[in-house]
Amino acid sequence: MKKRFLAMLTLIFALGLLLGGCGGEKKVEQKVLRVGTEPTFAPFEFQKEGSKEYTGFDMDLARALGKQLNMKVEIVSMGFDGLIPALNAGNIDVAAAGMTITPERAKSVKFSEPYYKSGLIVMVRKDNTAIKGIEDLKGKKIAVQIGTTGAMEAHKIAGASVVEFNTNTEAALELKNGGVEAVVNDLPVVAYFLQQGGGKDYAKMVGKVVTAEEYGLAVKKDNEKLAADINKALAELKKNGEYDKIYKTWFGEQVK
Ligand code: GLN
Repeated sequence: MKKRFLAMLTLIFALGLLLGGCGGEKKVEQKVLRVGTEPTFAPFEFQKEGSKEYTGFDMDLARALGKQLNMKVEIVSMGFDGLIPALNAGNIDVAAAGMTITPERAKSVKFSEPYYKSGLIVMVRKDNTAIKGIEDLKGKKIAVQIGTTGAMEAHKIAGASVVEFNTNTEAALELKNGGVEAVVNDLPVVAYFLQQGGGKDYAKMVGKVVTAEEYGLAVKKDNEKLAADINKALAELKKNGEYDKIYKTWFGEQVK
């Protein structure tokens, strides 16, 4: 009797294990999508004051893409100039960082279809009346973020001395402190900064948009599969209205 009871118990236990195991299998573990970014680029990627959470247009887009791909999005923060090396080293799967698609970068990474139109603009101190646009930056001291298209453009200006910072925050601070006469950065970011009062009345934008750029999500050069999946998911988000919803959150109604 005792033996039979023990045998029954063992059976029940084994069955439990089996069923438990099945249950575990049914709940397929979501794969992780490691998304690299540089979070001093509001409204695309930033941390709200006092919060550690990464927020912004790119972050919403990355999370929506993750949902579409049934992957768990994990945001990895790093310097902008570290993103492409991190992709190549396999430390991140995607870079979502307001990264402009350039022929030079396209040699070392694979870009998704463009997802946002942008361009560069010049920011100076409010009391500066001499600099009216990029054409007035010859021989001037300019602050930029390292590794960006703003940095590349500034380096083309004759006689200019370009001071490179790890973050956009530091570049803007240098303008505030009078260490430089101008900052070259992406228009939507400068506009948002000024609109949010980040310039605390010391800064203004001048001149026309300097370049025509498009942002793309970047993956490792040979990761054709992920690039294709991302493009498909991106197209779906554009079709189902999710992209427009995210756009509206950060920029208002889209001009089409
Ligand atoms: N769009 C610019 C670039 O790709 C700046 C990006 C950024 O600072 N996050 O270089």
